[in-house]
Amino acid sequence: MDTLQKFMFDQSRVRGELVEISDTWQQVQERRSYPAPVARMLGEMTAAAALLSANLKFDGTLILQIHGDGPVQLLVVECDASLQMRATAKLADDAEVSDDAQLQQLVNVNQQGRFAITLDPANKLPGQQAYQGIVALDGEDVATVIENYMLRSEQLDTRLWLAADTHVARGLLLQKLPEEGGTGGAQNDADAWNRTVMLAGTLTHEELLGTDIRTLLERLYWEETVRIFEPRHPSFRCSCSREKVGNMLKLLGREEVDSALADLGKLEIHCEFCGQLYAFDKVDCLQLFSLASIAEAVQLPGGQAH
Ligand SMILES: [Zn+2]
Repeated sequence: MDTLQKFMFDQSRVRGELVEISDTWQQVQERRSYPAPVARMLGEMTAAAALLSANLKFDGTLILQIHGDGPVQLLVVECDASLQMRATAKLADDAEVSDDAQLQQLVNVNQQGRFAITLDPANKLPGQQAYQGIVALDGEDVATVIENYMLRSEQLDTRLWLAADTHVARGLLLQKLPEEGGTGGAQNDADAWNRTVMLAGTLTHEELLGTDIRTLLERLYWEETVRIFEPRHPSFRCSCSREKVGNMLKLLGREEVDSALADLGKLEIHCEFCGQLYAFDKVDCLQLFSLASIAEAVQLPGGQAH
């Protein structure tokens, strides 16, 4: 079972999370296989999304996106408040990915790549927008890009370690909490923060990838008093639906849809995340647009109420 474990150091204001994602990660890759360096990046983003989402206590969906300008055009991971996740990557048609390609060669060849974090609230108030922050791809790997983003946008010190292959994605997050009022604690906290970060820094990529998170926690912090919380369990879930695909077709417009129908007979749309097929034939599309026009008619401002 995929697990996210929060923990806290008893003597200091430092908290952490470890995550291991295997089943969910397998389901992401079930319908497509990515070149190893792409799988590694997407896996690391998957681990990061779970860690950040659990850390935020935000009721909504956290979306991590990398818009690439190289062989990889897009990497997306979504994670909601109950740690239900989905992820996908899109490669350029002529993409050539060498086995040892790193982040900069995959998505930032011309320095035009972008990293975005979106927070989409679950129950939006009327007019409320999702929050989005976008930055350049500043860093050699996913963890560094996210750390650099956090450095600019948050007051809290946050460090991340991520590792993934096609089997599993693991990650560690450490965060220094604000100092409490009073005296004497600040120096202790600073020392504790440096120590916990230093210890995490001794982890090799292979160790993080190949060790279950319980063992990792013991191995790293056996000298500290660590309080652990009830574990949580990330899982795969795709939020696609026929209705959403229909709305997308409506946005395309009647003309566009009619011309595609004339060419193809019917429209077959596969969900990018889970592979689910949605088919719309002529009658379906007709219904779509006639319902749309009825809805518009109903919503027309009246002004003649008697
Ligand atoms: Zn789907």
